Amino acid sequence: MSNKTQQGFSTRAIHAGAVPDPTTGARGTPIHQSTAYVFKDADHAAALFGLEEFGFIYSRLTNPTVSVFQDRMASLEGGVAAVCTASGHSAQLLALFALMSSGDEFVASNKLYGGSITQFGHSFKKFGWKVNFVDPVDPENFRKAINEKTKAVFTESLANPGGVVCDIEAIANIAHDAGVPLIVDNTLPSPALCQPIEYGADIVVHSTTKFISGHGNAMGGVIIDSGNFDWSQNEKFPGLVKNCEAYHGLNFHETFGNMAYAVFCIAVGLRDLGPTMAPMNAYLSITGAETLPLRMQKHSENALEVAKWLQGNSKVSWVSYAGLPDSEFNALAKKYCPGGAGSVFTFGVKGGYDMGLGIVSNCKLLSHLANIGDTRSLIIHPASTTHRQLTEEQQISAGAGPDVVRLSIGLEDAADIIADIDQAISASS
Ligand SMILES: *Cc1c(COP(=O)(O)O)cnc(C)c1O
Repeated sequence: MSNKTQQGFSTRAIHAGAVPDPTTGARGTPIHQSTAYVFKDADHAAALFGLEEFGFIYSRLTNPTVSVFQDRMASLEGGVAAVCTASGHSAQLLALFALMSSGDEFVASNKLYGGSITQFGHSFKKFGWKVNFVDPVDPENFRKAINEKTKAVFTESLANPGGVVCDIEAIANIAHDAGVPLIVDNTLPSPALCQPIEYGADIVVHSTTKFISGHGNAMGGVIIDSGNFDWSQNEKFPGLVKNCEAYHGLNFHETFGNMAYAVFCIAVGLRDLGPTMAPMNAYLSITGAETLPLRMQKHSENALEVAKWLQGNSKVSWVSYAGLPDSEFNALAKKYCPGGAGSVFTFGVKGGYDMGLGIVSNCKLLSHLANIGDTRSLIIHPASTTHRQLTEEQQISAGAGPDVVRLSIGLEDAADIIADIDQAISASS
């Protein structure tokens, strides 16, 4: 499915998966706003339903616009296939659904987007899925938490919001020693800055809502299958290697080889759970992906400038940006994100909770809202918003304590971003 060629990243960001429309010649990828697709004949219909042939049936499964975006993401992450979903959260749900049954467990970093901690720790309990959270800063913590029920290890490459870079290679080795895949949420750096599959990640997930669509206008998620994990190496993944009753005894591993996991995520995950990406959102995300490398470079340059300025401000107690030379994560950032440490980071204010709230309230250019990865600079106080559902202990361990302010630095002129933060700090201290 993927267009894995020797072309460079910027070329693939624009072209992978897309060709001029064969019917109309349209150069841009059309928005195929169609629910269903006419079968050539009864045999064709039967072959599509039996998964003997790939094609379009019904847009809950795949859609021609969504399919272009899937192929582009598979190419950019260096995987064999990708599956788009309605949001980042549904990508996480489907990614684990292929691996987990009731009573199974997975081990996850405790430095995750707050919504993921809530999804994993609360809602997934209803499926009988148990998560064990560990501090990812020491990869050995993952090994200690793995047991015979563990089906996957989950981490973010660059953590939201903490400015923590995970040692993907070390964590992948630990997962592989236990015969389970490593799933990496690569939302913050995007594939323009970090390529987890190169370092052993088996599955990559994204909230494409953020940097990939890039303009704060389209929800979406994607799962990329590296094609590297051998699902038949043990008895842990019966859904992928046993004959599937819902497909007349079809065995995904034997039939689809290194794309078994991705095909399962579509043919069972999307079919039965249904969190499909809308064609309009795929279109906006395809357009966003075309400028991804340029945007990530500028996001990173601006963020570094703002982070350095904050370090020199007397009201600021600390700045957690992996791109700063004195960050404890700078060496890992240089290894995993050589092109820049991204746009999102946190800083602490000496005036605690009240001053954090004051700064977000006084910003004028920066928007006070719950999102990241927009062209516009964004600011939020996690303890009172995104991480509000967590206990104070969980907030602190997730890097979202009461004094923490999170920034998602946009593509404006750095001087204007700094001037706005400067006046907001003065106004609230
Ligand atoms: C936003 C986000 C998610 C969830 O994605 P949605 O598209 O909002 O569902 C997951 N992981 C990270 C790192 C995020 O920033």
